[in-house]
Amino acid sequence: MIPAELSNLIAGEARPALSGAWLEKRRPADGQPLCRLARSGAADAAAAVAAARGAQEAWCERTVVERGDLVREIALLLRERREQASALVAEETGKSLALARGETDAAVEMGLFVAGEGRRYYGRTTTASMPHRQVLTLRQPLGVAALLISFNTPLPNVAWKAFPSMLCGNASVLKPSEHAPASAWLFGELCREAGLPDGVLNIVQGLGAEAGAPLVESADVDLVSFTGSAATGRLVQERAGRRLAKVCLELGGKNALVVCDDADLDEAVRWTLASAFSNAGQRCAAASRVVVLEAVYEELRERLVAATAQLTVGTRDEDFLGPVISHEARERILRAVQAAVDGGATLLAGGRAAPGAGYGVLPTLLEGVAPDAPLSCEELFGPVAGLYRVPDLDGALRLVNDSPYGLTAAIHTASVHRAMRFAEKAQVGVVVVNAGTHGSEPHMGFGGVKQSGTGWREAGVEALDVYSDVKVVNLVTDPART
Ligand code: NAD
Repeated sequence: MIPAELSNLIAGEARPALSGAWLEKRRPADGQPLCRLARSGAADAAAAVAAARGAQEAWCERTVVERGDLVREIALLLRERREQASALVAEETGKSLALARGETDAAVEMGLFVAGEGRRYYGRTTTASMPHRQVLTLRQPLGVAALLISFNTPLPNVAWKAFPSMLCGNASVLKPSEHAPASAWLFGELCREAGLPDGVLNIVQGLGAEAGAPLVESADVDLVSFTGSAATGRLVQERAGRRLAKVCLELGGKNALVVCDDADLDEAVRWTLASAFSNAGQRCAAASRVVVLEAVYEELRERLVAATAQLTVGTRDEDFLGPVISHEARERILRAVQAAVDGGATLLAGGRAAPGAGYGVLPTLLEGVAPDAPLSCEELFGPVAGLYRVPDLDGALRLVNDSPYGLTAAIHTASVHRAMRFAEKAQVGVVVVNAGTHGSEPHMGFGGVKQSGTGWREAGVEALDVYSDVKVVNLVTDPART
């Protein structure tokens, strides 16, 4: 199902890295080799950028409706290949087939939503201060877009960037994560099958520093759209900033889920587990801080610990979470948990590798972590959450906002006043009331504040602002009278 060797896609051709080098990708479920991917470098990145540049002019000559039609074709092909795509994602990430199917569906939905924008693509028509003049706006493509993405939900990650970039008339170079090369490869194959012109989507596989950095630094890349960690995002922004390129960063989170003393505790437990541990905590919106009002702290802790003990780690649909993506990720997560314990935190659950050959980590709960300790401030991207006791809602808000990140936050309460106060005061891009820290929809802009991003929103019509420029046109309607 996954070819033994995953090449780059450049100008419609499968091309190995020019150096001939390959990287090994291992299966998170058992640590065994899965496939090899091209270990691309600067020359491969340059070839992909040149292919994109060569294809872009003709692509943007097509109407946006036509481009939208092609986006729809690709999305429908993906829907047709749902089982193949989901099985491939499950294989390369270690998540269950059920979870992978949900992600394939989300990628399809994104494509269908974006395709529809081809028949809207609204601008503005407005008044001018001078008589006999109309002012209107036109959306313009940017040119060549570099799309750099994380491994965590590989198909939606591709879909969120590649579809709107195509629709807006850009040609793209996609740099998938070295941990999820196969989903991107499949997406490229579907684009070819659907009839996307050669060079409109190119794919360069490999390591970030070797294959991604040259894209970020290329003078011929007009937009750098990046989803990944804040550490890498900072590098990307610095490098692309030197040539004043447009940069969209979608970064991490240290998301908080607040449980008030009037909350339905069964629901609070259910959503805490889902928020903290689903996809093995490898979600930018994962809840890693569970902030609980004093009056219900003991009871919630007891229930959470009991419920966490029931969760199984594995790749079956009935398992609550799968392994993390790599051996290195697991070691990093376990080291961070140990450091928190050494710093005085109490381990309530997990804190160890899951039994078995893969890269599983037991769902982990801690309490007594200082709010300024690394575990409270740094994103781990694993199934680890800390419990924090606060006296009241104001205390909860202080803790929620005492973070370098600001992506999502959730509150559990029966009070509409508390919910609305929280929605207004939480310094994040997405607030959820009485559910989990998630909330992305194809038609809703998604993104965060502070170190969670640079203020852009992906998905929704907001994505069009990332992938196009808005040009203002002044039209004199009666030259003789102006
Ligand atoms: P990462 O920063 O390690 O890598 C992201 C991508 O950047 C990969 O393709 C990687 O190869 C590439 N890269 C690495 N170094 C690079 C460099 N020097 N130059 C150019 N590219 C480079 O992140 P990750 O571990 O793949 O993903 C996890 C992070 O992504 C978490 O912080 C998570 O919160 C974040 N994330 C954010 C969102 C969002 O929408 N805000 C969504 C998913 C994941």
